[in-house]
Amino acid sequence: MAHDYAYNGRLSRWEEVSPGLAIVGVEALDAPFAFDPGQYATLGLVGASGKLVQRPMSISSPADDTSEYEFFIRLVEGGAFTTLLWERKVGDPINIKGPKGKFLLQDDGRTCVFVASGTGLAPFMSMIETARGRGVSRDVVLLHGVSHEHDLAWRAHLEAFEASGPFPLRYIGTVSRPQHSPGWAGRTGRVESITAPVLDELGLHAANATIYLCGNPDMISAVDDLATERGFSPEQVRRELYWPKGRQHR
Ligand SMILES: Cc1cc2nc3c(=O)[nH]c(=O)nc-3n(C[C@H](O)[C@H](O)[C@H](O)COP(=O)(O)OP(=O)(O)OC[C@H]3O[C@@H](n4cnc5c(N)ncnc54)[C@H](O)[C@@H]3O)c2cc1C
Repeated sequence: MAHDYAYNGRLSRWEEVSPGLAIVGVEALDAPFAFDPGQYATLGLVGASGKLVQRPMSISSPADDTSEYEFFIRLVEGGAFTTLLWERKVGDPINIKGPKGKFLLQDDGRTCVFVASGTGLAPFMSMIETARGRGVSRDVVLLHGVSHEHDLAWRAHLEAFEASGPFPLRYIGTVSRPQHSPGWAGRTGRVESITAPVLDELGLHAANATIYLCGNPDMISAVDDLATERGFSPEQVRRELYWPKGRQHR
């Protein structure tokens, strides 16, 4: 269908992590925009009605390379934007605008406790890869919760980085449906259920850590409550909410 929207980007990469979960590259055709790790872009596609459907997506790639913006996206069943995206192929046009957002690393010298559910890993990848590229050392504990083992995107990369990287990264994946991942020998349960034990095991508390939460609303409110109980101040709990509480996954 003809439309008035000038597409200013193109889909440059599509890596399927598991069914309905993909790492997606977008190239800006105009001058690329600079961004800080943790920020998001707005992606837009024209739907059947001719209307531009736009959604915010955290950028997962490092801030010092804007030749391609990378995203980690879940197909939401019946979702207006993601169903359109899944119909596209590499080379197709797309709208991209940015950057936006205040979910940024704090320069506070504390251990960063990154807690991600699902695609909430995206901004943390950008933060880790940007620090790595700049040779900046940060103490990072990264907790990533998914339903199935195969949804643990970047797992091999993160494990290799943990083993040999230039700064201390502790990477902990957890799988909430282990009955569907028979080979999984790691932690089980939702990421919010492993956060307290991990903080205790690693000696992390309000005096030495800042908690960063990204993903679904139930995870964010559960870990927020935990952090408040443990004396973390509001500034020490940073949040990026992907959708409002009460709206269920369709
Ligand atoms: C700042 C910000 C950054 C975001 N970054 C990402 C990202 O990096 N990757 C990503 O996949 N999404 C991200 N989202 C969510 C994204 O903007 C869309 O809401 C999502 O892709 C669904 O859009 P849709 O049009 O397909 O579904 P809609 O028709 O808008 O339906 C939305 C409903 O789908 C559910 N939903 C939304 N996102 C998810 C999800 N990831 N998993 C399961 N259910 C969901 C919620 O119930 C929501 O109410 C982000 C949201 C915000 C606010």
